[in-house]
Amino acid sequence: MPHEPEREAREPPRRPTPEVGCFRHVWAERGSTVNRAARERIFARLREADPEPTTELHYGTTFELLVAVVLSAQATDRSVNAATAKLFAVAHTPEEILRLGERGLARYIRTIGLYNSKARNLIKTCRILLDHHGGEVPRERAALEALPGVGRKTANVILNTAFGEPTIAVDTHVFRVANRTGLARGKTPAEVERKLLKAVPEPFHRNAHHWLILHGRYVCTARRPRCRECVIAEWCEYRRKTPA
Ligand code: SF4
Repeated sequence: MPHEPEREAREPPRRPTPEVGCFRHVWAERGSTVNRAARERIFARLREADPEPTTELHYGTTFELLVAVVLSAQATDRSVNAATAKLFAVAHTPEEILRLGERGLARYIRTIGLYNSKARNLIKTCRILLDHHGGEVPRERAALEALPGVGRKTANVILNTAFGEPTIAVDTHVFRVANRTGLARGKTPAEVERKLLKAVPEPFHRNAHHWLILHGRYVCTARRPRCRECVIAEWCEYRRKTPA
C-alpha cells in the first residue's frame, strides 16, 4: 500500500478504505498510474533511443502528408508508400489529383484497403481545399476535421507532424502502449488521448505520438511484446511481460 502522509493530510482518499486499488482509481482519473518521475524517465529513454522521431509515411509537402495519412487508415505505411510513390510522381497537388478524377486516382491506390471510398473522399477533399482554403491544408482542427475522410486522429497527425502542434494521435499502437505501461489507461482512443495529454511531461509532448507509435510497432507489439529488449521496461506496469 503506498503511504503518502502529506497528501493524505491535505486531501483524504475518496474511499473509506485506503487500498492500493483506491489510489489507482484516483490516479487513473488524473491521467496516469505511473508517477511523474517515472514518466519523465520513460520519455527521456525513448528520446535517447530516437532523438528525432517522425512518421514512416513518405511525403514532401503538407498536402502529400494529408493524402498519405488518409490512405493509411487500416493499411500499412509500407503499402501506402508504395502507392504514393507512383501517385505523387504524376499528381501531388489538389489540382492534379482532381484532374485524375475518382477513377483515375483509384487506379493508383487500389492496392490499399478501402481504396474506392478513400478515392472518393480525397477527390472531395481536393475540391474543398481549392474552394475554401486556397489549395492549402488548413491548420485549424475544425477545418481539418471537416474534410471528408479526416477524423480526429488524422487531424492530430497533421497538426503535429506538419505544423508542430503538441497533439497526440491515438492509433492502435499508441492505445496499446499507453494501456499496458499505465501511462494512460482508457477504454477508448478519446479517453487515452485526454489522459496522455495530461500524463506526458510537457517537454516531450511534441514527439510523444511518434515515440509511442514506433515503440508499439517494433517493441511493444500486440503479440509477444519484446519486453527483454524494451528500454522502458523498468517503469512499465504491464503484469504479463514476455519472460526471458
Ligand atoms: S516492458 Fe513489455 S509490455 Fe512494457 S512497454 Fe516494454 S515491451 Fe511493452
